[in-house]
Amino acid sequence: MPKIIHYPLSIFHCFMNLTNWELIKGNRNFRNLLAGQYVSELGNWFNFIAGQGIVRSVTGGAVEPLVIFLICRTLPWALLMPFAGTLADRISRWKLMLITDIIRIFLALSFIFVRSSEDLWIIYVGSVLMSAAASLFDGAKSAVTPNLVGKEGLLSGTALMFSSRFLLMALGNALGGIAVTFLSYEVAFVINSLSFLVSAYTIWLIPEKETEKEEKDLEAKAAEVSSEVEEKLLSAYTRIRKSYRNGLAVVLVARNACGGCFGSIPPQMQAEIRTKKKIMTCEHCGRIFAGVDDSAITLSEEEIA
Ligand SMILES: [Zn+2]
Repeated sequence: MPKIIHYPLSIFHCFMNLTNWELIKGNRNFRNLLAGQYVSELGNWFNFIAGQGIVRSVTGGAVEPLVIFLICRTLPWALLMPFAGTLADRISRWKLMLITDIIRIFLALSFIFVRSSEDLWIIYVGSVLMSAAASLFDGAKSAVTPNLVGKEGLLSGTALMFSSRFLLMALGNALGGIAVTFLSYEVAFVINSLSFLVSAYTIWLIPEKETEKEEKDLEAKAAEVSSEVEEKLLSAYTRIRKSYRNGLAVVLVARNACGGCFGSIPPQMQAEIRTKKKIMTCEHCGRIFAGVDDSAITLSEEEIA
């Protein structure tokens, strides 16, 4: 029996995807988001180094306060990260980014008042809030990116957003180190505060409605078709949408796994999903299957041939 060849989806994708440069050049809103994110992340690392420096300097290099500082700096981030996306779904992401930037303008300035070990609480409290703000900013930014870049810019957009992370970390640490060494702590914290001001400005330049555009359109469409869907299915769909962190209720099977929870899906079931005769759900997570994505499988067949 002749084998039916499915072309890998990626072949078609490469004609539709914008390159990094095309995206930066052609999309002003994304350019502003990217600038805001770069500056604010640089500011974050800058503050991390300057903060450590001042803790050392007022305590004479004691280890304990430094450890407390590091915990204040990292724990809120780690704890809040899972909820940042959800919160970004509830309130305007644009406002969330703007507010967290503005808060950090003042938090960075508050570090100036740390003069002795008695003032260390300022830096502890400030760092907890700074870390929480950074986490929320990050969640909102990730949620906004797809709306700003559209389908054809998603690959480049995500790459530009996240591949720069370690470069910005290195650069921010270096700049923080230079400022602390050659200038004073006060100047370092003022520069830091200004970096959040710049970031807030670039975010403010993006029209708020652009950050939610695609989603609002899709929500309207969903409301339109929901009247035609069986009530039992619809309530299951809504329940799944709400209970999972990534908000995906309908997924594809890819590489023999559920696209939502990555639990393995037996071939028998995949065959049944392909027929599309009835609605199939994942036995691990309950998500609804829309079909089987063959692009991954076909690619490996081609590699063999
Ligand atoms: Zn699943």
